[in-house]
Amino acid sequence: RNTPDLETLDKRYLFHPFTALADHERNGPMVIVKGEGVWLEDNHGRRYIDGMAGLWCVNVGYGRREIADAIHHQAVTLPYFHAFSSWATDTPILLAEKIIEMAPVPMSKVFFGQSGSDANDTQVKLVWYYNNARGKPEKKKIIARNRGYHGVTVVSASLTGMPALHSGFDLPLPFVRYTTAPYRLWEATPGMSDAAFTAKLARDLEDLILAEGPETVGAVIMEPVMGAGGVIVPPEGYYVAIRAVLDKYDVLLIADEVISGFGRLGTMFGSTAMAMQPDLITVAKGITSAYVPLSGCIVSEKVWRTIVDGQSKLGAFGHGYTYSAHPLAAAAALANLKIIEDDGLVAQAASRGALMHEKLQQAFAGHPLVGEIRGRGLVGAVEFVAKKEPATRFDPTLKIAGRIVKAALAEGLITRALPHADTISFSPPFVISEEEVALMVSRARKAVDTVMDELVR
Ligand code: PLP
Repeated sequence: RNTPDLETLDKRYLFHPFTALADHERNGPMVIVKGEGVWLEDNHGRRYIDGMAGLWCVNVGYGRREIADAIHHQAVTLPYFHAFSSWATDTPILLAEKIIEMAPVPMSKVFFGQSGSDANDTQVKLVWYYNNARGKPEKKKIIARNRGYHGVTVVSASLTGMPALHSGFDLPLPFVRYTTAPYRLWEATPGMSDAAFTAKLARDLEDLILAEGPETVGAVIMEPVMGAGGVIVPPEGYYVAIRAVLDKYDVLLIADEVISGFGRLGTMFGSTAMAMQPDLITVAKGITSAYVPLSGCIVSEKVWRTIVDGQSKLGAFGHGYTYSAHPLAAAAALANLKIIEDDGLVAQAASRGALMHEKLQQAFAGHPLVGEIRGRGLVGAVEFVAKKEPATRFDPTLKIAGRIVKAALAEGLITRALPHADTISFSPPFVISEEEVALMVSRARKAVDTVMDELVR
């Protein structure tokens, strides 16, 4: 076939994730065929700024030869061997050493998987095994946050605090509970100070733990800055207050750094940016800049040692994937981390992020329908409201954010509508230039104007 009709073939054969399938059958796909830096090209030659780095993940940008070469070298040297029992391959060992050296708090071991979702499943098993090993098998419940996003496997979808991802699947599983999101626009009273808001959120968590019984609660899972749930940045002092509650009731903290890990918030890890002291850290996405799927659970010495000691009672840690510690993924990760360090991309994410927030303020702060502009480092969001005072949501059937995203595409910009938040988000590759930041925001502003004009018409 010379020029396959990709749209037709897609509609005929490909089952897309997260898609209104009937609409897709009518409208077909957008087929991306090429990428360079922050730019993508579709199969009709149209070019777009990728304002989302794929799904918050292509942090070093598209077209990095160094990563492609590392993947090629590993594939021809040793594409695969497993890491079950005492088998190992060389590259994942070197990557594990690197990650433990980089970790934001003292950590001990890394368990590799292939997606953020499976890593969060593994975290739950680690918490359970840890508590079984300590003779506290009843400490099973996991507390997540409303609007938190942790993945879509049966366990991680349960942790995800979005009812829309539960309906249709009989989820969540019964051991999951949710606490309040640190979402100032909707959860704080007008004028509430950071200190008062933090105290309220810590109290909500403590009340939940007490209501459930602390002897039944194993861990809390939180993204340093909530991503898909709306780019929600907690108030000052939040994680210190949360950690104090968890320490009081012997509850572990899992930091889901799938988005924030490896530079997105302007520090190597989001835990550092947000003063978070986790016992377990989940990483994925930015670890390879998505060139190859890879995830990791980074485990503290306390959890690791308890698990090792527990094996005499519980037997081997019976968990692992065929692709755990995959050498190709590890080679891609090592090359990716080298680029991030050699090119100073974490500092660049911080400085381009500062510029992006400045431009977002200039473009949107005075807008009558903008409720909040928020973010941290190189991740940002703009939330639209029907009325500012008191903050009032749009009628959801208007699908404001979805329409803006569509209008942005016509301007040559890929951004993302966050579910049920009337929010559009920005999370471009760290290699974005100053001019491209300005272009991204001006295209977004044009798209917003288009949709707002339609609304008043
Ligand atoms: N955790 C967070 C914070 C995420 O943003 C995501 C994906 O967006 C996941 C977990 C799930 O990762 P994956 O899609 O690789 O399963």
